[in-house]
Amino acid sequence: MKRIFIFFLLICSLAFGGNITNVQNKGDKIAISLTSFDKSQYQLSYDTYNRLIFLEFPQSAMSKKLNPNSFKSKYVESFETVNYGNGTGFFIKLNKNISYSSSFNSKEFVLSFNDKNPKKQYTIIIDPGHGGKDPGATGFKKYYEKSVVLAVSKYLRDELKGDFNVIMTRDKDVFVTLGERPRIGNRAKADMFISIHANSAVTNKLSGTEVFYFSKKSSPYAERIAAFENSVGDKYGEKSNNIVQIMGELAYKKNQEISIGLARKISASISSGMAMKDRGIHGANFAVLRGFNGPGVLIELGFINNSSDIKKLVNPANQKKMAQQIAKVVRANYY
Ligand SMILES: [Zn+2]
Repeated sequence: MKRIFIFFLLICSLAFGGNITNVQNKGDKIAISLTSFDKSQYQLSYDTYNRLIFLEFPQSAMSKKLNPNSFKSKYVESFETVNYGNGTGFFIKLNKNISYSSSFNSKEFVLSFNDKNPKKQYTIIIDPGHGGKDPGATGFKKYYEKSVVLAVSKYLRDELKGDFNVIMTRDKDVFVTLGERPRIGNRAKADMFISIHANSAVTNKLSGTEVFYFSKKSSPYAERIAAFENSVGDKYGEKSNNIVQIMGELAYKKNQEISIGLARKISASISSGMAMKDRGIHGANFAVLRGFNGPGVLIELGFINNSSDIKKLVNPANQKKMAQQIAKVVRANYY
């Protein structure tokens, strides 16, 4: 009698439900293979608070025993199968920040998972100042701004590349025009532009870090720094005045607000991490920032002609530390 009853159930499940023949973890998908199953019958619901998907195939039977641990992944925290006797259910708990979608054809039900905050959703431009025929500022007749800033920029790239798309306007000792640098950023639709420089002054007494943002108005001091950095263009046959500000007034204000916040944090982070003087932030009309359509900062790491700063600027361990101090701020703001 019992045997006949089981046989009857089996007939029912084949007739009205289906048989689940396989369930596979395919990385960002879980695929459930079924013998013919009526699409209108499955039920899928999601409990947002508990991040729990409940998937039910009424009047179906599972012909395979599953190992729940084999379904754990970066998307799935836990996986459980429940057999009701007259149906099969799956409880799938998602990890944080995972979204899902489903698709169904008569032979296969597929749950697809997506990272809601995929890594590398932001693009950061690292712009090591000067390069090639343009050495930038020179300190103690042997230290070149172009080399110091390239070294720090490479460390910064290495710090950020795991979490961001990082594009460098140059990664070797080559000359790149002031106009081309922001264009690289605009072509990539980058989210942030970080130009890295080292300062110099007529006196060797000045020391410390300062960070600039693009502003149409500037103080006489900031204007002098911008004039030096912008002079690269004119000196090497490019009219830096021709680099136009492509952002509209509203974008200019918004980008400036973001840039000011980042500038302040970067300046504080470098100076505290490196035990250097925090010379604060300044707005000025830098051609390289003016041409970029987004928030940007220009960091003057320290003074290349100051005996205390130069020790930090040329030492690889300190260059790396400077990069880490900048990366910390970028990560905290964008990641
Ligand atoms: Zn410079």
